[in-house]
Amino acid sequence: MNGLTALSRWSEFRYSTPRMTAGKTYHIEIWGCQMNVADAAAAARRLESLGYTEVPGPAEADLVLLETCCVREKPEHKVYSRLGELRRFKEARPSMKLGVCGCMAEKEGRVILRNAPFVDLVIGPRRLARLPEILAELEESDEPLVEIGVEGEPEIEDAQDFSRYTRAGEIKAFVNVIEGCNYRCAYCIVPYVRGKFSSRTPESVADEVRRLVDAGVREVTLLGQSVLAYGRDRGKAFDIVTLFEHLHEIDGLARIRFTTNHPLEVTDRIIDAVAAMPKVMEHFHMPIQAGEDSLLAAMKRGYTVARYEELLGRIRARIPGVSVTSDVIVGFPGETDALFETCMESYARLRFDQQFMFVYSPRPGTPAATLPDQVPQEVKVARMQRLVELQNAISTEINTAAAGQVFEVLAEGPSARDANRCAGRARNDKAMVFTTEHAPERGALVRVVAEQGHLWGCSGRMVER
Ligand code: SF4
Repeated sequence: MNGLTALSRWSEFRYSTPRMTAGKTYHIEIWGCQMNVADAAAAARRLESLGYTEVPGPAEADLVLLETCCVREKPEHKVYSRLGELRRFKEARPSMKLGVCGCMAEKEGRVILRNAPFVDLVIGPRRLARLPEILAELEESDEPLVEIGVEGEPEIEDAQDFSRYTRAGEIKAFVNVIEGCNYRCAYCIVPYVRGKFSSRTPESVADEVRRLVDAGVREVTLLGQSVLAYGRDRGKAFDIVTLFEHLHEIDGLARIRFTTNHPLEVTDRIIDAVAAMPKVMEHFHMPIQAGEDSLLAAMKRGYTVARYEELLGRIRARIPGVSVTSDVIVGFPGETDALFETCMESYARLRFDQQFMFVYSPRPGTPAATLPDQVPQEVKVARMQRLVELQNAISTEINTAAAGQVFEVLAEGPSARDANRCAGRARNDKAMVFTTEHAPERGALVRVVAEQGHLWGCSGRMVER
């Protein structure tokens, strides 16, 4: 039995009629990535359409959902530990319903009920669209419900069409445009828990974005595990550039971001579109994962360092001011001292604006988990420290070199670091904190001259509206 079959075996379809539940409250906690944030927003909109209202904590919530990740082991442990804490709330108020959603729900399924028998609901990402029906079923059931499975999944536009329930007050929003992944990176659990590529239509995405803009959103980030593969599963009818074009027409939308980008998906057509379209931001989050060819091959990433470097050069040459950020794994099986040194040389040469660095953690069910030559934890940690030092130095140098440049910044309100200053993001996603005599409205595009570079971004002052 393969992993997918084992996971989908538990998928149970029952259909009940969703009903309005005026007066009920919900609380959602996110223990994962941007995809989980988008899924949580989608769940919230679904619940609000049923009459639920959000409350800030579990104590007063009728329904508590945890949006979870399973890419690494640590977040899973944290979720179980959080479930242990939430048990107290349930014991105090047995009518409270507790659910686990997201990738960990898909991967663990009924194991969650074995480990935490007080949980009422387990819902995989591809089943979230049925949340109203599932809640109706739960009302009539004495048993916990498990709703998972990636086979025979609904099309993503059905699963993600929550645009009618857009919330007010947000200026930035994540929009899932493609679910799943067809790659099979040796360390990654995602394809097993989110299924294969499934793209929404450009019309469906544009419809959601229009509603977000009507509610005050100025910037959207188009999300997918490999977002540039958008449309692949739909033949050649449309691609990510088609989607950029659709969204570019929307009045009031100021900025379009897109993440995450597999290097094999980055084409000249996409680079040219980013260079040419004013609303598409000059930032590629393009994980390299390793800086040495034999490690990349073992990871099944499908490219070499030289190929990545050539692509990076093309992006930087074609798009002035672009920033490129990356994910990297430290301590993948077989990473010897010598191979790690080669990786460090690569990262020093490639000079990413920022790297998100992860110590390798084996995920059961992935090919890499059973590879020989696993790296001892203390070695991984020591290597990670060296990499962090290298990347911190590079990021600080890049940001310091930006002093004197003027950036277009989307104003987001007072800085969390200093309430007397404003915060925002430059087009290339650099964090900016700036002084001004007249604070701009949230969502305004302003011009900021960088005066000083820091590890986290730049500080400066607003020069004109
Ligand atoms: S491309 Fe990303 S999501 Fe897909 S298998 Fe590789 S690491 Fe996982």
